[in-house]
Amino acid sequence: MAAKIIDGKAVAAKMREEARTRAAALEARGVRPCLAVVLAGEDPASLSYVAAKEKALAGAGMEGREFRLPAGVGEAELLGVINALNADETVHGILVQLPLPSHIREKAVISAMDPAKDVDGFHPVSVGNMVLGGKGFLPCTPHGVLVLLREEGIPTDGAHAVILGRSNIVGKPLAALLSRREVNATVTICHTGTRNPGLYTKEADIIIAAAGRPGLISAGMVKEGAAVIDVGVNRVADSSSKKGYRLLGDVDYGPVAEKAGWITPVPGGVGPMTVAMLLLNVVEAAENAANAVSGANTASGARAAAARHD
Ligand code: NAD
Repeated sequence: MAAKIIDGKAVAAKMREEARTRAAALEARGVRPCLAVVLAGEDPASLSYVAAKEKALAGAGMEGREFRLPAGVGEAELLGVINALNADETVHGILVQLPLPSHIREKAVISAMDPAKDVDGFHPVSVGNMVLGGKGFLPCTPHGVLVLLREEGIPTDGAHAVILGRSNIVGKPLAALLSRREVNATVTICHTGTRNPGLYTKEADIIIAAAGRPGLISAGMVKEGAAVIDVGVNRVADSSSKKGYRLLGDVDYGPVAEKAGWITPVPGGVGPMTVAMLLLNVVEAAENAANAVSGANTASGARAAAARHD
């Protein structure tokens, strides 16, 4: 059986269109959704991710305001930038491109952000709300994986999902989201301490590879008909390519595609979803801010009217 290839670009285009429509409705109310993108240093992968996000924002009628800082920027200065962005009412979302230079504590920077502007969903308050089922932004890549499963009609209710990777930005949040009652999967997390990941993946209805190890998932590790979602993005040296490298996922794509029921390609699978979910978070942050202002106006108007009638 050959797997159905999941077209992440097509699903992402649908999500981007939704973001564009909602951004246009806000624009009609005089609000242009704006994401502040903070980048410290010149890491080439980070530069290309930031460029892709800014292009997508522009395509959806939103503003990307870039704050580029030198690699040697001090933590206090970076925290000052975050505080200023927290206070700036024209900025609805803040994204700090990771990784930060090693002398800066990522946790301190992320925790300094106003959770209402935390469109990456990395702030401890956002993570807490995600786990507890409260309101808040969901992290873009795990949320994108969930939307792909839903849009492709991949059954999750009672399914066994095996995640490879336990990072704070992919593996752990995915485990929390997949085990939510409305998704209802049974979740196993494999990581560097797992003795034999194949033991678990062979039993899995859904495999989500997020380890950053090219070729980690071989066909022998996959059950016939399983859904295989490849989050991994690995730059592998390739002298035949103009860039000198090519992108590979964590899945041995060809052989696994022969056996799986569904598979995401790399590139063109999960990657476009991450950007699309970011756009939806930015537009939601702008909607929340605009509604808070009009709610405050209505409340103060009602108070004034009540005062007049007293
Ligand atoms: P990370 O390095 O922070 O975490 C990797 C995790 O994989 C760790 O928890 C580790 O325990 C686990 N791991 C490593 N080797 C393993 C093995 N052999 N078996 C099982 N588990 C193993 O990485 P991350 O930030 O979570 O990213 C993971 C991958 O996903 C990377 O390739 C990254 O580039 C990619 N990524 C893609 C997107 C996207 O939008 N497509 C977004 C974020 C990350």
